[in-house]
Amino acid sequence: MLQVEKLRKAFDGFQAIADANLSVPKGEVVAVIGPNGAGKSTLFNLITGHLQADSGHIRFQREEITNLAPYKICHKGMARSFQLINIFSSLTVFENVQTSVLAKHRLDRNYFTPSRKLLIPETLEVLESFGLLDFKDRSCSALSYGDQKVLEIAIALGSKPELLLLDEPTAGMSSEETRKIVNLIKHLSQEKGLTILITEHDMELVFDVAQKIMVLHQGKTIAQGLPEDIRNNKSVQNAYLGE
Ligand code: ADP
Ligand code: MG
Repeated sequence: MLQVEKLRKAFDGFQAIADANLSVPKGEVVAVIGPNGAGKSTLFNLITGHLQADSGHIRFQREEITNLAPYKICHKGMARSFQLINIFSSLTVFENVQTSVLAKHRLDRNYFTPSRKLLIPETLEVLESFGLLDFKDRSCSALSYGDQKVLEIAIALGSKPELLLLDEPTAGMSSEETRKIVNLIKHLSQEKGLTILITEHDMELVFDVAQKIMVLHQGKTIAQGLPEDIRNNKSVQNAYLGE
């Protein structure tokens, strides 16, 4: 579904991504791990077009998408959440999800804006599947931190993506909120067949949800493979797990 090859990105001479390689098979949950500052968020920003790569290739469903604009990449079927919550706090929960459902329709129909009424059933369906229906008329700022994160994922899914990128989806969460996110990831993967790429700090969570793991260290891919191989990999242990 996604292939990253020899990707490089520098910020003012600092090589944040030095040699990133990643392949994400369709239908799997793949995790990118690595210490703070390893380049995980930068890699996500390159994949989604929020940053421009200096060199290398990104292919999505066999199509070259390197350095395309974010909205074009989104329209091809990729959606994301951010490490810091990114929602419209002055809008209601319903309006937030409707925004992405609307954006998807406008792009599909060549910027023709459908009547908002047409979008109501679809928006309600997304809200229901995320357990957010009871909160639909509330202002987003009234939601708990954990529910704001769930809402952000619901917004991402409003565009009906095939690949979902989640950047540290459980950062700053209580263990109960974390469990909710873990169940949501498993549900989206197992029931909906969504392909998911996550970055995560919590190793227990990574080994619980991921079918494949890529290890990023100082902007370089030092290993990728099955969770048990990564756990036993000496260079990974030295660089990261043994810390
Ligand atoms: P991670 O998500 O793995 O913690 P990041 O991708 O956020 O790491 O950052 C990787 C490195 O790149 C860090 O050293 C960070 O300070 C640097 N960096 C990230 N974004 C920028 C930027 N816009 N300008 C300059 N340096 C950046
Ligand atoms: Mg990060």
